[in-house]
Amino acid sequence: MRIILMGPPGAGKGTQAELLVEHFRTPHISTGDMFRAAIKEQTSLGLKAKEYMDSGALVPDEVTIGIVAERLAQADCSNGFLLDGFPRTAAQADALAKILKDLNIGLDGVVNIELDNNILLERLTGRRVCRQCAATFHTVFNPPKVQGVCEKCGGELYQRSDDTLATAQNRLKVYNDQTEPLIACYQEQSLLKRIQGDQEIEQVFRDILDVLE
Ligand SMILES: [Zn+2]
Repeated sequence: MRIILMGPPGAGKGTQAELLVEHFRTPHISTGDMFRAAIKEQTSLGLKAKEYMDSGALVPDEVTIGIVAERLAQADCSNGFLLDGFPRTAAQADALAKILKDLNIGLDGVVNIELDNNILLERLTGRRVCRQCAATFHTVFNPPKVQGVCEKCGGELYQRSDDTLATAQNRLKVYNDQTEPLIACYQEQSLLKRIQGDQEIEQVFRDILDVLE
C-alpha cells in the first residue's frame, strides 16, 4: 500500500501513522526521520541537508525532494510506504509525481484527516506543563484532578508560549495555506480520501482502512 498521510497539527496524524505502518508493514517515511537517516549514512544529499540544518536554515525543496527520491528507491519501499509530512506544498507534490513515475509506481491513496478548526484549537491549546516537575496534562484529554495543580508534585501548571491560541491559529493558517492547493490537486486526481478525525482513535483507523481497502 502506497499512502500519503495528511492532516493538520492536532489531528492525531502521528498516532494513525503508527497504526498504519504496523498494519501494512510498510516503512514510515517522515521527512525528519529521512533527514536523520541520510545524514547518518552520509549521502551527498544528507550532507547538504546537514549544512542547512546546522546553520539553522530551512532545507530547500530540491534537497528534500532528492532525499525522498533516494529513500523511495530503496528496497524496503518496493511493496509500499507511508509518506508523512511530505509533500507539503504543490511544488513538492509535482516533484513526488515525477519521482513515482520514474520508479514506475503509483499512489493508492492520499488520506486526509479532517477536523473542525475549533476542535483543533482546543486540542492545540489544552496542554499544561508543571513548573516544578515538567509533567504534562491536557485540559480536555488528560485533565489534572485539581485545575491548575500538578497531580504528581502539587506544582503549578502553566501554558507554554508555543501552545497559546495565537500560535495555534498561526500554525493552522500556515498549514491550510500550504496544503489547500495540493489537497485540491489530489482531489482532482481522485486520490483524496477524506477522513473524519473527530472520533475515537480506533474508529478513525477503521475508517482509513475502509477507504483504502
Ligand atoms: Zn509536577
